Amino acid sequence: MNRIEHIIGGEKTAGSSSNTQAVYNPATGEQTGEVVLGAAAEIDAAVEAAMAALPAWSKASPVKRAKVMFSLRAVMLRRGDEIASTISAEHGKTHDDALGEVTRALEVVEYAAGIASHLQGDFSREVGPGIDTHSERQALGVCAGITPFNFPAMVPLWMIPMALACGNTFVLKPSERDPSMANLIYDLFKEAGLPDGVLNVVHGGKDAVDAVLDHKDIQAVSFVGSTPIAEYVYTRGCAAGKRVQALGGAKNHMIIMPDADLDQAADALMGAGFGSAGERCMAISVAVPIGEGTADALVDKLKPRVEALKIGPSTDSSAEMGPIITAASRDRIAACIANGESEGAKVVVDGRGLKLQGYENGYWMGGTLLDNVTKDMSVYKEEIFGPVLSVLRAKDYGEAVDLINDHEYGNGTAIFTRDGDAAQDFARRIQVGMVGINVPIPVPVAYHSFGGWKRSIFGAHGMYGKEAVHFYTRLKTVTTRWPDGIRSGAQFNFPSMG
Ligand code: NAD
Repeated sequence: MNRIEHIIGGEKTAGSSSNTQAVYNPATGEQTGEVVLGAAAEIDAAVEAAMAALPAWSKASPVKRAKVMFSLRAVMLRRGDEIASTISAEHGKTHDDALGEVTRALEVVEYAAGIASHLQGDFSREVGPGIDTHSERQALGVCAGITPFNFPAMVPLWMIPMALACGNTFVLKPSERDPSMANLIYDLFKEAGLPDGVLNVVHGGKDAVDAVLDHKDIQAVSFVGSTPIAEYVYTRGCAAGKRVQALGGAKNHMIIMPDADLDQAADALMGAGFGSAGERCMAISVAVPIGEGTADALVDKLKPRVEALKIGPSTDSSAEMGPIITAASRDRIAACIANGESEGAKVVVDGRGLKLQGYENGYWMGGTLLDNVTKDMSVYKEEIFGPVLSVLRAKDYGEAVDLINDHEYGNGTAIFTRDGDAAQDFARRIQVGMVGINVPIPVPVAYHSFGGWKRSIFGAHGMYGKEAVHFYTRLKTVTTRWPDGIRSGAQFNFPSMG
């Protein structure tokens, strides 16, 4: 059985705690590994290693740090299949979906390879007599990342390449549900030439997270996960004086206007609602057709598509979605559907109780389509994080916009329409961080930045892109007067350059 240990200062270690957690293959329900669970002692050791590696790494030229990212890109391209298989083995997503995750992670590595120009400072000559000013961005020190189960490669790689390229060292605390990918990320960096101690991996749960949040030598924490934990991490991390960005959960709506191409919209909803079994923070979980005619036609198109979903293990190349991450998550999703049903939603397609021949102990859940969902139902208010698409019928465009703006989450959203006025109005008025116009999953490319609004984010900075350069550095502005031999004596007024 695979034993997954911490990696601290370049060495694998079980740490001092005897706590462990089982790791499963969600397609078979078999235990495939055991991850050690660290706490304060392991975080202390990892921070010590990161502190020791910091002076040389932060002093290295940006070009030298960028070279590691160029090498990492080559390593990831060569080992892409192995990375995807490692993701799928513990997460369960299809191999193609995992390859897509690797591609998006690579884009951030490529952006980080351009760090020399992203870190370029500003210079102003003669801001006063004989005085010049320059601004630069300097590394923070030791940074930490706490990541969720659903993108075990991409989310850590939203953080690590940018933090390291900016000159920081890093401690990663990945999800304990699919931890093997974190150790593979370490191996990829090692092969790319990263010095020991610059990146450290500590496995664990709440104890390890609390130790990160309280550690006096960790300057910044990047978190991605559910909203209650994001809020907790933000509050406790900020109280300890850290810079914190904490991205949380989501409920993403897609408006379907009466003029939309309904086949295109239905296909988009299938991919965005059921890809990765709906376990994506950018999954569309609510379809909002405008008008009863649009709603009836849309449900007619969705029903056969949801019924025909091909569900299977990641090794089945024809599968469109895989299993749910754990038996507990599958049961929680089934309970959400039951709640919706008891609150009055119509179950058009029911994915509960799915069994797959040969995989009887896997955590399976078929695609579920709910109609006549209303905004007071728990199935609408809460994030389900599973293969469940709700249809909430709106009488007009204004009602749909109010619905989205009133929801506590504001991660992603989309509108499908041919009407340019509606599209422009939507992009301007909607209270959501990432907006798609005829694009169902508008995850920004690596040279823009990723982040929601409202209770989908705590903190001022999104992930990757320019936001990451600002998050992982602090601004220093240097004002210089070159001695010119002229003595002007002591000045007691507040200095001005005019
Ligand atoms: P989670 O909140 O359960 O776990 C995230 C991390 O927090 C893990 O590393 C976990 O070990 C740690 N953690 C869990 N419970 C904790 C506690 N009580 N105290 C301290 N730390 C704790 O999230 P998950 O189930 O792994 O991931 C799914 C969630 O992540 C969904 O809500 C999804 O929307 C969200 N997500 C958001 C984004 C985004 O960019 N906004 C991206 C991916 C996932």
